[in-house]
Amino acid sequence: MNICSDAECESYIFLTPGEAIEAVCIDFEQYGPQGGLWTAVASMLGAPQACFDSQFADGGMRSLFVEHVPDRAKLCTICKAVFWGDAKIVEPPGEPLQIRIATQMRDFHCIRCGKCCRTLDYHRECSPEDVLRWQQAGRDDILEWVHPCKNGAYRIWVRPGTGIFAEVCPWLTDTDGLWTCSIHDLKPEVCCDYPGTRKHACMTGCPTVISAVESDF
Ligand code: SF4
Repeated sequence: MNICSDAECESYIFLTPGEAIEAVCIDFEQYGPQGGLWTAVASMLGAPQACFDSQFADGGMRSLFVEHVPDRAKLCTICKAVFWGDAKIVEPPGEPLQIRIATQMRDFHCIRCGKCCRTLDYHRECSPEDVLRWQQAGRDDILEWVHPCKNGAYRIWVRPGTGIFAEVCPWLTDTDGLWTCSIHDLKPEVCCDYPGTRKHACMTGCPTVISAVESDF
């Protein structure tokens, strides 16, 4: 995923069509019921009868995309609906086609409330690159909280020697009411990328973005 900003300070995410489909599927898997959105996306894919109960079932949105492959224009429209930001097809010279999604996060200011660190479901998002950085930095204290899975993936943050997820991230610290990440320079990519979009922030309860959205109405 690439992120950049233009002269008007709007920031964008650039996704290949495959990455865009993956991002839409993850959105439906990650967040609570989104019945209206499910119906809208299913209709755009030509499957208006798709049962909403399957949002959280095996496959869910993924199986819809397998059975109904959208063309570029339709995928763009789906991204716009799912991520709440303008979406456009772009084809930079010499690079593959991408979908450019406006994040609507240009005015974002973190107030260090710590809510995202306690709400975001990051347990399955630890990457091999994260693990490599911690190994290269000699941070065995961080690696102790990483659980390697049989399929080569990793889980965080798992209480050392237990296989049980920590209730709260062990690196989140409260300093006089302001929450701080005590491994800020080495935190996982998923944390560095948060919040990717205005919708992402809203769905994880970010009070700054929610109040901005409410003031738009
Ligand atoms: S690693 Fe840092 S940024 Fe990530 S959830 Fe923990 S405290 Fe928050």
